[in-house]
Amino acid sequence: MLKTKMKKPGIAINSARCMACYACFMACKDEHCGWDTALSKSQPEMGQYWMNIVEWERGDNERRIKTASVPTPCSHCDNAPCIAASKNGAIYEREDGIVIIDPEKAKGQKQVVDACPIHAIYWNEALQLPQKCTMCAELLDDPDYPGFEPRCVEACPNQALVFGDLADPDSEISKLIAANKVTQLEALGDITGNVVHLNVPSAFLAGTVAYPKELEEVCIGAHVKITCDECGCTYETETNWAGDYEFEDLPKGKSWTVEISYPGFKTVEYKGERTDHDHYVGITYLEQA
Ligand code: SF4
Ligand code: SF4
Repeated sequence: MLKTKMKKPGIAINSARCMACYACFMACKDEHCGWDTALSKSQPEMGQYWMNIVEWERGDNERRIKTASVPTPCSHCDNAPCIAASKNGAIYEREDGIVIIDPEKAKGQKQVVDACPIHAIYWNEALQLPQKCTMCAELLDDPDYPGFEPRCVEACPNQALVFGDLADPDSEISKLIAANKVTQLEALGDITGNVVHLNVPSAFLAGTVAYPKELEEVCIGAHVKITCDECGCTYETETNWAGDYEFEDLPKGKSWTVEISYPGFKTVEYKGERTDHDHYVGITYLEQA
């Protein structure tokens, strides 16, 4: 029985706040390495990432690079594919939705590693055992545990991880989810669970505007409008102090027309700029009208 008496304990992961400091990763190692818990065998120090920080570089050339990071532990899926792939009840879903690997029954069941769509299960060669995040259920179940959260959540210095009862509409976690953009991990398809991802960035379209090249000066305040070639929706902005413009979180796989205008200069139009991934249009040098 959970001390917190939560019906559906869950973690909301807000990627917009994650700064890839790895405090959560280290807290997970601290909790699970070196000894067995009531629900799991010791996690090896190397080669397993129960709290896996997925990081990538954004942008398609060196002129506009951003990074993104998405902490990706087990999602504790509803109707989990790993449970379907396991035998003899080796992986089971608790009443509260937390998915647990039974360290005795799961011995030798390497097939469950490949069943996880987000690669959250790791194979322990020495123990011949699949292993993964327990959401620190062994702590939450313990009436003597002084904390109220999984160790990773407790360690996060930037509120990128929030723990609470997903079944309670008035809980902090439910309010946070309602106020943010839920961004389901692509690999999970429509599988929901006890982990909810928020604000995972999709694609940006960006560029820079400058006065005629010989002036060697960026143009501040140029008007930039983009129009989706398929649905006609538009977004507008102005270039900043560096002459840069950026449209963040656009839908992927779309084609856009980019229109750049500034008083006294010819309007510039680019067609077919795509957001299959993050895309930097380049530098636009204005010409006198
Ligand atoms: S994320 Fe992977 S390991 Fe976790 S419950 Fe879902 S299928 Fe199983
Ligand atoms: S502790 Fe928080 S900010 Fe740091 S990597 Fe983990 S989720 Fe991101």
